[in-house]
Amino acid sequence: MNKEDLKYFKEIIDKKKQELLAELGYLENSTLNATSKDQSGDLSAYSFHMADQGTDTMEREKAFSLASREGRYLHHLNEALDRIEAGTYGKCRSCGNDISKPRLEAVPNATQCIKCKTAEEKKQRGL
Ligand SMILES: [Zn+2]
Repeated sequence: MNKEDLKYFKEIIDKKKQELLAELGYLENSTLNATSKDQSGDLSAYSFHMADQGTDTMEREKAFSLASREGRYLHHLNEALDRIEAGTYGKCRSCGNDISKPRLEAVPNATQCIKCKTAEEKKQRGL
């Protein structure tokens, strides 16, 4: 995956994260909310916010982490962002092949290609 692709998926993940956080009510009365209103939905405002107030956001996310389905999803999105940083994003953790882009667009936190995922699900169901 080249830099452009990584950037593209990072934006998708950032957006999903913001949607999730908004759903969870995190963005109420926050600086981020004010900022995004000012910039009428400009996503770069989010990255700016993250860099600026990273610690606070991280602490709140950590506190929430794993407490619910949304929390786990948030955790997975954060892991996906880590993989983008590490340059391992988009590789299947089972077979090491590239995960297809349409799949990543649908499930940006995917860690397995559709083949391995299907095989694993079959195994889990005892098929
Ligand atoms: Zn695979």
